[in-house]
Amino acid sequence: MNDRSPDHDDVPYWKAKSLEEMPPQEWERLCDGCGRCCLNKLEDWDTGEIAWTNVACQLLDGHACRCRQYETRHEVVPDCVGLSPDAVRTLTWLPPSCAYRLIAEGRELYWWHHLVSGDRETVHQAGVSVQDRTVSEVGMELEDYEDHLVEWPGQDVDVAEADRKYEKIP
Ligand code: SF4
Ligand code: SF4
Repeated sequence: MNDRSPDHDDVPYWKAKSLEEMPPQEWERLCDGCGRCCLNKLEDWDTGEIAWTNVACQLLDGHACRCRQYETRHEVVPDCVGLSPDAVRTLTWLPPSCAYRLIAEGRELYWWHHLVSGDRETVHQAGVSVQDRTVSEVGMELEDYEDHLVEWPGQDVDVAEADRKYEKIP
């Protein structure tokens, strides 16, 4: 079965099923591989406000936008947040473009999602992923994180801008 195999009378599984109804394989395939959730965030202790940085988790491959050690990541990064349907609905910092959040909110996946495009590169080609936009947390002092504050991971994607970036791909 390929990523775009239809389900339920030709309705793709991500439209036919709720997050709770997806078996593990379908759940994992729903991730678009953007890597945004693997960036460090700073939280204001008083207000709870989240500020995004472009400082990536030590295990993130900043070009491939993949966890280098996904299956055993908790041995190295114990506080890596595992997503579940409940977590998707309650985490306040999940990026607005995150595929899990889109489905939880009853929205459509964007065209660059590999389940729609059939190509895992389109999330990068549309400039949606963190590809080549991060620095590693390895060796970085906590006080230096403030030099790496960025807003784009917490913003929804400008679709017209993503279209333009994709059209410029030779
Ligand atoms: S933000 Fe969502 S879609 Fe993007 S890598 Fe994280 S879990 Fe996957
Ligand atoms: S451990 Fe892996 S999945 Fe978790 S935040 Fe780091 S790179 Fe992302």
